[in-house]
Amino acid sequence: MIYLICFDRPYRHAHHYIGSTNNLSERIHEHEHGRGARLMAVITEAGIHWQVAATFEGGRKEERKFKNRKNAAQLCPNCGAKFQERQRTQKREQRARRRAERKGAR
Ligand SMILES: [Zn+2]
Repeated sequence: MIYLICFDRPYRHAHHYIGSTNNLSERIHEHEHGRGARLMAVITEAGIHWQVAATFEGGRKEERKFKNRKNAAQLCPNCGAKFQERQRTQKREQRARRRAERKGAR
């Protein structure tokens, strides 16, 4: 299965870690002790708290796909709402800007 870990504060640009495992609880235990993934070791060392925010069906191939999509924030139930809100705000601002430009052209 694929699992998505959400950090309680970002580490540089990373706010999530996506991994795959056949044994989630064992994998989580490894991460808690700074093993299994370099990023997770660094996160743990930095004293950043984290939690498994979501799990998905799939193996290594899907893990790669998830990582390539670079939209972990959208997949994350903790961050998804915030992410969508930010997108909505951006679209609203774009529309307002375009409206202002049209008015200016007249
Ligand atoms: Zn998140």
